[in-house]
Amino acid sequence: MEENPQKKVQNRILRTLLRWIDDDAELEIQDPSRIEKIDWFRILPFLFMHLACLGVFWVGWSSVAVLTAIGLYVIRMLAITSGYHRYFSHRTYKTSRLWQFVLAVLGNSAVQRGPLWWAGHHRHHHRFADQPEDIHSPVQRGFWWSHVLWLLTPKYFATRKELVKNLTGYPELVFLNRFSVLVPLLLLLILIGFGEWLRVYVPSAGTSGLQMAIWGFFISTVVLYHATSTINSLDHLWGRRRYLTPDHSRNNWLLALITFGEGWHNNHHHYPIAARNGFFWWEYDLTYYVLKVLEWLGIIWDLNEITVERRNQDRLLSLSIKQRNPQSSVE
Ligand SMILES: [Zn+2]
Ligand SMILES: [Zn+2]
Repeated sequence: MEENPQKKVQNRILRTLLRWIDDDAELEIQDPSRIEKIDWFRILPFLFMHLACLGVFWVGWSSVAVLTAIGLYVIRMLAITSGYHRYFSHRTYKTSRLWQFVLAVLGNSAVQRGPLWWAGHHRHHHRFADQPEDIHSPVQRGFWWSHVLWLLTPKYFATRKELVKNLTGYPELVFLNRFSVLVPLLLLLILIGFGEWLRVYVPSAGTSGLQMAIWGFFISTVVLYHATSTINSLDHLWGRRRYLTPDHSRNNWLLALITFGEGWHNNHHHYPIAARNGFFWWEYDLTYYVLKVLEWLGIIWDLNEITVERRNQDRLLSLSIKQRNPQSSVE
């Protein structure tokens, strides 16, 4: 029986609203002609996050709000790099179930969906890096696709559970992954509450609930998102290649600076299981330093390290290939 058009629209709206709060409600892809087209209604929250940053023209700024934004950027970037990336995606070290959960919650607060979603897509990226199947290769599909557009299309909304089977056995992670909107909402409410508390009890701080929300949540999160995404986009285009990997990954000091070490992306694509991405003292890798502190505290253990001998051998191998083939992209 034909569905009447009004009912069809109603259903679509209801389904999308459900998908805003329940990541598992992402449909198995319906219309093949639309799976790589932007789903505007679905991504309204993402657009709203960007628009809300403009609220800064109404709420102004205060030291406490700006410092909160910076602090939340630092904590959540580290949660993405050390948790979502180096732990959930690559298992470069071990930790307890409790700390695994803490890493998942902190990573979740970055508003980059759940740990299983993030790790599944990232593992897929490593498997097919810069090949036609790569989900976000700037070499294959251009800068904007790799930086943001892929994320807005129905094909990539669902979690690739088949690629994260080591994680699907933890109900607490599955829950966080399914309702990945909960932790960010909680963070937003805490910021509003704290800002209002300051407004009433510490008026000299010059802030408010709304100002704390704009700086601490919206601006901090949007900057965090775009900084993280430069690794998918610019770090496959711009920088130097130390190792002859089968992709276009590069080492870039500026991207390493803003992503706390992830910019040594050619090192990382060559040794994805290594806990460390920056191999020399000048290759600043804050994430690794933090991991070493967590190891010293006994919170994590069994960090995967690559020996200097092995790195030197691999570098020599890349250089010898370069000698035989000067067209090779290694420098
Ligand atoms: Zn990559
Ligand atoms: Zn990776």
